[in-house]
Amino acid sequence: FYDVLIVGAGHAGAQAAIALRQAGFEGSVGMIGDEKDPPYERPPLSKEYFAGEKTFDRILIRPASFWEERKVDLLLGRRVKSVDPEGRFVNAGGEEIGYGKLIWCTGGSPRMLTCNGAGAQNVHAVRRRDDVDAMMGKLDAVRHVTIVGGGYIGLEAAAVLTKFGKQVVLLEALDRVLARVAGEELSRFYEAEHRAHGVDLRTGARMDCIEVVDGKAAAVLMADGERIETDMVIVGIGIVPETGPLIAAGAVGGNGVDVDEYCRTSLPDIYAVGDCATHANRFAGGAHMRVESVQNANDQAKTAVAHILGKEEPYDAVPWFWSNQYDLKLQTVGLSVGFDQTVLRGDPAARSFSIVYLKGGRVIALDCVNAVKDYVQGRAHVLSGAMLDIAQLGDASVPLKEVGL
Ligand code: FAD
Repeated sequence: FYDVLIVGAGHAGAQAAIALRQAGFEGSVGMIGDEKDPPYERPPLSKEYFAGEKTFDRILIRPASFWEERKVDLLLGRRVKSVDPEGRFVNAGGEEIGYGKLIWCTGGSPRMLTCNGAGAQNVHAVRRRDDVDAMMGKLDAVRHVTIVGGGYIGLEAAAVLTKFGKQVVLLEALDRVLARVAGEELSRFYEAEHRAHGVDLRTGARMDCIEVVDGKAAAVLMADGERIETDMVIVGIGIVPETGPLIAAGAVGGNGVDVDEYCRTSLPDIYAVGDCATHANRFAGGAHMRVESVQNANDQAKTAVAHILGKEEPYDAVPWFWSNQYDLKLQTVGLSVGFDQTVLRGDPAARSFSIVYLKGGRVIALDCVNAVKDYVQGRAHVLSGAMLDIAQLGDASVPLKEVGL
């Protein structure tokens, strides 16, 4: 039995445990995780860790000793199969573990291809350390890599592989990369960058199946009959939230488990936070959504913990995110969903610029490429939903904080 039991030892789970102890909570805390490692940062899996620039120790969220010192029991290598909200226990690996409060922080599993050949040995996802270790162990023998999906993970993997001298084909089914998360200007900029680095980046690409030889993907076959020879396939087409046991226990949810402003699910004393939690986000006009970012995982964990400790502080944090590709550092603040106008600051050709997203004349988000000042100063405008002078906004020589109303 644990006073607070955390399921999922990732970003949100780690932050929940840290926040409990930081607040002086003295009850028992357990954290169950199905991976073998203590909580580690996931973003480097498609960046510095994949590139060999950071060792695994350097991406641990806290050193292994931290959890012991803070009396957080790590129950690793165990998967929660079911939750009994009436009996107040979970079943993990055949053992029943009771709880006072439960925080569900299970993230998501990579969505995989469903076509023929999708299960071949050298078809990889990028979600866990094990996924990346498996790819890294094979890379020496690999020359041609096909990446399926032009989201951040696919693009970051392409940048790392290009650096390693691999021949990369990137297939995006929609008519532009990053279509789900960014406006067209940013998509076109990144498409051009990847092509300039030698990536064979194709949009509107219709894959048919994977040709498998001796258990391994040998080629990707396209709907138009083209055969793209490959030594490895990397799939980055999003995640499916890991909510099965909670939904089976009766929690309300669909694409994720529904939570209120305190991250409470519909089940008593069960909270959900991070990638798996569907919430109304003020920065998307109150739309119900899951936000897949470290910011959201950390801030929702703090909200749930505050509520457990008796403080009603509704979740209202400004979304932010980053992506590193080549020498480009993208930083985003706010959520651009539903924008009806964009203003460009700076010159994409100079590889330092920002795109300001507006809705009904109000600033809702910024995408800043090698433009840290805009990112830092734009935050306040997103927070207040500022209505700014458009001509000044588009003039990069005027610092964002000085742009008038
Ligand atoms: P996770 O960190 O995924 O943790 C969930 C944990 O729960 C996992 O260990 C999972 O195995 C475990 N689990 C699942 N089901 C069970 C179960 N039934 N029982 C026990 N354990 C279970 N975000 C950014 O903000 N910036 C970035 O640059 C960025 N880059 C990324 C790059 C990659 C390659 C990936 C994969 C993600 C990236 N993200 C980035 C997203 C970010 O990592 C996630 O939003 C964040 O990890 C979400 O935290 P979480 O705790 O909700 O889920």
